[in-house]
Amino acid sequence: MMEVQNYINGEIIDSGSSEWLDNFNPATGKVYSKITDSNAEDVDRAYEAAQKAQPNWENSPAEERFRVMNKVAELIEERIEEFAKAESIDQGKPFWLAKNEMRRAAQNMRFFATAAMQFASESHATENKAINYTLRQSIGVVGCISPWNLPLYLFTWKIAPALAAGNAIVSKPSEFTPMTAFLFSKVCIEAGMPAGVLNVVHGLGPKVGQAIVEHKGIKAISFTGGTVTGARIASIAAPKFKKLSLELGGKNPNIIFSDADIDKAIKTTVNTSFMNQGEICLCGSRLYIHSSIYEQVKERLIEAVKALKVGDPMDENTRIGAIVSKAHYKKVLGYINLAKEEGGRILLGGESVNPAGFEDGWFIEPTIIEGLSPNCRTNQEEIFGPVISISPFEYTDEIIEIANGTEYGLAATIWTENLTLAHRVAQQLQFGIVWVNCWLLRDLRTPFGGMKSSGVGREGGWEAMRFFTEPKNVCIAL
Ligand code: NDP
Repeated sequence: MMEVQNYINGEIIDSGSSEWLDNFNPATGKVYSKITDSNAEDVDRAYEAAQKAQPNWENSPAEERFRVMNKVAELIEERIEEFAKAESIDQGKPFWLAKNEMRRAAQNMRFFATAAMQFASESHATENKAINYTLRQSIGVVGCISPWNLPLYLFTWKIAPALAAGNAIVSKPSEFTPMTAFLFSKVCIEAGMPAGVLNVVHGLGPKVGQAIVEHKGIKAISFTGGTVTGARIASIAAPKFKKLSLELGGKNPNIIFSDADIDKAIKTTVNTSFMNQGEICLCGSRLYIHSSIYEQVKERLIEAVKALKVGDPMDENTRIGAIVSKAHYKKVLGYINLAKEEGGRILLGGESVNPAGFEDGWFIEPTIIEGLSPNCRTNQEEIFGPVISISPFEYTDEIIEIANGTEYGLAATIWTENLTLAHRVAQQLQFGIVWVNCWLLRDLRTPFGGMKSSGVGREGGWEAMRFFTEPKNVCIAL
């Protein structure tokens, strides 16, 4: 059985614990590999390696960081089938989707390799008294903790800017989906990444993740995951005055106004709602449709979603794969039951399903629910599965208030051909990202992140480079 091991000080090694965790294939419900069950001592070991490696990495020419990071990207692309297959088996997502994400992971490495070469800081002339310039120096050793939904994509989204900015890293992928970070470690060795610059410690969040957050030498934490875990991390890191970037949960609205291009809106909404089994923090789980087009859009959406094939993640026709873990599968089904209790009518789906050959896997039908009030738990809490709630609305002001009326503020989507309305609504929505007539159209230079309980700070482009550097004002009197 394959074993997922740590990557510490340039070597692939087991945890000192000699314990192993089971790694499940969500499509079969069976254990298919073992994960080294690391602990705080492994984190210490990773930190020591990182601390030793960091000064040389920071002081290496930007071209060298650029070269190594590009080489890693190249090797991922060369092995895209192997990476995508590993991601699909580990996470449950369709293979074709995993392949797209592996390309995007390689692109993260390339994008921030370029940032290493281009990053600059500002200077201010203070009348004729002084010149101020900002020195942006590496932080030192940073911690990167990533979730299970887009495993390699979100792992590289964090470590790439950290590396580009000259930091060394102690990282922890989710224990539910460690496989591609493990393959990535091997690629780093091949690409000639200096030992200790990146360290990957596998294991449980409350053990390994928490040890990273608590470690006194690790000066900044970049975390993507659930809001409850984020709050816990903040409560540990804040009194230690660590720099924190938190990308957390969402309960994203998708609003279709009466003048929208309905064909486009429906086509995209199928993805907005159900891509990756709805396990994307940016998925729109609350769909609001203007009452004048409500019945028409509802019927057409149901027809389109009915056509999504649920099943074998390796089958290229599959659109909905398996839910990542048994616990999460139960949680999602629990929310469907709650929706019924809260007065929701299931228009489509609502059940678990066992495709032929995958009788023990964790599959849930794409589910559309109608008739829920804006303030019920189903419309307020993050479900993070293939479940959406749909409702009609009348007035723009009313829908802005409803859309803003959750504790979250990650992403919103609006559909309208009215330019003025689009700008006005975009300004009033309290979300870190507003998509107009599109969804998940990403430009890696833009600030990425959420408001309210969806997070603190922004990733992407210069925002990420700024997070992973310490600014110092140097003031020179003239
Ligand atoms: P979790 O919060 O459960 O876990 C995220 C990571 O944190 C995992 O690596 C986990 O380890 C680790 N972890 C768990 N407990 C601790 C702890 N006490 N200290 C330190 N680390 C810990 O999130 P999920 O993995 O369930 O991911 C889904 C969540 O992520 C959703 O809420 C989703 O909205 C959010 N998300 C947000 C995004 C954004 O950009 N805003 C993007 C993608 C997802 P382990 O899994 O091994 O326990």
